Amino acid sequence: MRVLTTIDEVRAARGAFPGLGLVPTMGFLHEGHLSLVSRAKAECGAVAVSIFVNPTQFGPNEDLARYPRDLPRDLAFLQAGGVDAVFTPSPSEIYPAGFATRIEVGAVAEPLEGASRPGHFAGVATVVAKLFNIVQPTRAYFGQKDAQQCVVIRRMTRDLDLPVEIVVAPTVREADGLALSSRNAYLEPAQRAVAPVLFRALSDARLRFEAGERNAEALRAIIREVIAREPGVDIDYVSVADPETLRELDSVGTVGLASLAARIGKTRLIDNVLLGGAAPDVRAATT
Ligand code: AMP
Repeated sequence: MRVLTTIDEVRAARGAFPGLGLVPTMGFLHEGHLSLVSRAKAECGAVAVSIFVNPTQFGPNEDLARYPRDLPRDLAFLQAGGVDAVFTPSPSEIYPAGFATRIEVGAVAEPLEGASRPGHFAGVATVVAKLFNIVQPTRAYFGQKDAQQCVVIRRMTRDLDLPVEIVVAPTVREADGLALSSRNAYLEPAQRAVAPVLFRALSDARLRFEAGERNAEALRAIIREVIAREPGVDIDYVSVADPETLRELDSVGTVGLASLAARIGKTRLIDNVLLGGAAPDVRAATT
């Protein structure tokens, strides 16, 4: 496994891989990341992983400074996962002095995470476009866990004619349903114990949808009610939206995206399930 820290090193190494899958990450890796790595390796023949805690996608009062980091552990994990190359640039390699360009994706970046985290998706879109240009992957792999991010990246890739195929893989969960996330490391034991309520609430809404409920506000109400029963969980938003436009629905047709953000203590977690026609989530093998 090659560990590369500069853009020049990546460019020099790129020719060795005719097909290359890219998995962009912020590190502190878990089985969710590994599921993307395995799929990329199987589908592309070779896989590169970027590890970069991108400062421009964090707001001024967010957790950039305390975001969990453990590069030696991540590298061992990726080596065992059969990764061909890892790109771990410094912030100044990605944003040298004078850097000034931002990609604003438009309407799909505005609601939900975009509304709660102003500037977040401009930071994500800009760094992902740069990573695509630096690594030049044939495909790039993203997790359904960050559903809006997937929609934003797809939109950007189409709009800017970026020659990369975007692949979205299912959310990997703990045995109790909690979506794997690097931020789960922030949770104290009592907080970790209540966190599965997020997926329980979304799953209840999905069950009601499968039983015929089509009223989006009724589905949102179910999610809010289930969460309200668990003390210490503060809802940021609950949404039932069109999975492509991310516009809130009055009535769900054949498909919808139920998503939420909530705070447990200082930790902000997001999760979602697709309503209708969706591949099921997968459970982590190690938990
Ligand atoms: P992050 O390091 O959190 O920025 O995530 C890097 C990539 O891994 C993103 O495409 C995420 O959507 C994806 N990812 C994070 N958690 C999960 C999960 N539990 N299941 C599947 N993919 C995930």
